[in-house]
Amino acid sequence: MSDTQSTADENNSQERRGFFTRRGLLGTGGLATAVVFGKGLVDASAASAAPAYVPAQLNAKDAHYSTTFRRITRSTGTGSAVKVLPLDRAKFQVGSTFDLRVEATGVDPETTRIVIRVSDGSGPAPLLGPAPVRTSSAPDSVEVTYRDFVYPAAGTFTIAAAVSSSAGSASQEVTHEVVLADASGETAKNVIFFLGDGMGQAAITGARILSKGITEGKYDAFLEMDTLDFRGNVTTSGSDSIATDSANSMSAYMTGHKTAVNAMGVYPGNSEDPTASPRVETMAEVLKRSRGMSIGIVTTAEIQDATPAAVFAHTRRRSEYLDIMEQALTPEQMPDVYMGGGRASLLPQSQKGSRRTDERNLIEEFKDKGFAYAGTRTELSAVMAAGTPDKLLGTFHNGNLNVYIDRRITPDPAVLGEFPDQPGLVEMTRAALKVLEKNDKGFFLMVEGASIDKSEHPLDGPRAVYDTIELDQAVAVAKEWAKDRDDTLIVVTADHNHAMSIAGTHTLSREGSPARQQNGVYADAGFPTYVDADGDGFPDDPNPDVQLFFGWSNHPDHPDDFAHNPVLAQPALEDPATEQAFPNPNRDPGAVVQIGNLPLEETNCVHTVEDVFIGASGPGAQRFAKLLDNTEVFHNVIAALGLQIPTYSLRSSGGKVAEAEVAATEATPAG
Ligand SMILES: [Zn+2]
Repeated sequence: MSDTQSTADENNSQERRGFFTRRGLLGTGGLATAVVFGKGLVDASAASAAPAYVPAQLNAKDAHYSTTFRRITRSTGTGSAVKVLPLDRAKFQVGSTFDLRVEATGVDPETTRIVIRVSDGSGPAPLLGPAPVRTSSAPDSVEVTYRDFVYPAAGTFTIAAAVSSSAGSASQEVTHEVVLADASGETAKNVIFFLGDGMGQAAITGARILSKGITEGKYDAFLEMDTLDFRGNVTTSGSDSIATDSANSMSAYMTGHKTAVNAMGVYPGNSEDPTASPRVETMAEVLKRSRGMSIGIVTTAEIQDATPAAVFAHTRRRSEYLDIMEQALTPEQMPDVYMGGGRASLLPQSQKGSRRTDERNLIEEFKDKGFAYAGTRTELSAVMAAGTPDKLLGTFHNGNLNVYIDRRITPDPAVLGEFPDQPGLVEMTRAALKVLEKNDKGFFLMVEGASIDKSEHPLDGPRAVYDTIELDQAVAVAKEWAKDRDDTLIVVTADHNHAMSIAGTHTLSREGSPARQQNGVYADAGFPTYVDADGDGFPDDPNPDVQLFFGWSNHPDHPDDFAHNPVLAQPALEDPATEQAFPNPNRDPGAVVQIGNLPLEETNCVHTVEDVFIGASGPGAQRFAKLLDNTEVFHNVIAALGLQIPTYSLRSSGGKVAEAEVAATEATPAG
């Protein structure tokens, strides 16, 4: 390509971007009729003298594109630096294992020497084993890792690291808090942990209005999650950003440690290899090895998705689905009940819909390990009717399960495709409890309402709210199961807030144009007219005359008529020519385009930073009745179980020292 050509292309691209922005205001493909500037209406035809940029092609983009497929980059700076992981102010349970990592960057590996000292309140603490792993993940870095490090007693520990090489020197000191669970008094044998993905207060309030009804301002009843014995709030930020994704927020609940967007069960190390980051022990690993408890995972997402995977897995990149399945087959991490979507990652590559790159059939491999298997709702009933199995695998869709509205309220064969027979959260939770209650050492069951989040991303309020009701009905199953026992802690929370808000009502029959004139606020909102004639807790018609008016705190340019969409439609699509979002011409055709506030490449709304609700009933539930950092949820669960974690590594290795000097010349390149 000549320079002239390149400049011409660049100009053309700038021109396109200019038109793109203008079309973003006006609507798409000539579908918009009017656009509001200030208080006046401007007819789009008057403005259409501007040449219209219409993308040649539009592609759907993953809602978590900015997190799931984010490139892992090494932190780089100037000069020598040293970083100790786990981070300063990290909190540990006595006995929980983790990788202690010292990373030196901006160094000359040939001449690097790293000195590491461990001390507790009274002086040097001999906890460093004889054989750290030495790696060099880049030409100017050296890493020293002590695998399965463990703190043997409660207290405050300090790790000091100093690095020197011909390139310079640096040092860092971190302080770690170590606690021992109080095993006296009333403790829980089982934990049932409900996670509404993206379930901010708008989703909960919307579910209460639709499911229970409201008369003259008083709710006719409360949700199951509303009536837990104790309520509090949780902060959700991660170690790298105030704004979290579902991997790092669930990882905080399941490990007690902060991590970064895209990561779970690890502290983000300086390697681009997603398997090379230092690990912290997960809930599944702790409970299996300490007490022989069973682990159950039930989700409406793919079973490899961030929330379910964070119960047991370690990865720097949540999209590593095949590696996550490999970890699920590892005895120390393996769930005993594992149900949801995600069959694509289990089928041999020669089978239709497979995501695998080999001929392994993981369904058969799980069966060989003693799992019963169900691929449909009917098969799940049959498996359970044939006698409760010891272990249970269910994959009911190649991808995520369909949302409740599409599964049950208005099932459309075109939407359900090859998966018309999917169970819901209630049935999966019931089956999981039957399997797990067989273990007299107790169990930890995680139940995720995944598509609250997955509906909010494309700005679909009704779908998010129906899936919140479904999660609440699964909470009812747990409460019923636990009601005559005093040994089960039930926790309900969300991993992060979302953009959705309820501002009033939207009335289809109200006079007015554009559609925003049909939105009622304050006294004009009144009450919606949802009807639940069959009494199943879900309104029979998600599109009544007076319905909720959903607003969104962040969004791309997108058309919106504010009414329920019979078929889920992406608000915006990616224009591959500009790599920017473009309003979806097939969503609410003719509707005014709402001007976005997100960066131009975001096609969906994004998670928000506000605190979320947490509620709990059962032994230890009072610990949740306050504002909690998200990492404290893990420690509260351990404390509710009265669990004192055995300090394995102390038993297994001798030769501990409080200070080690590591030369890097023997370092081997990291994978
Ligand atoms: Zn999300």
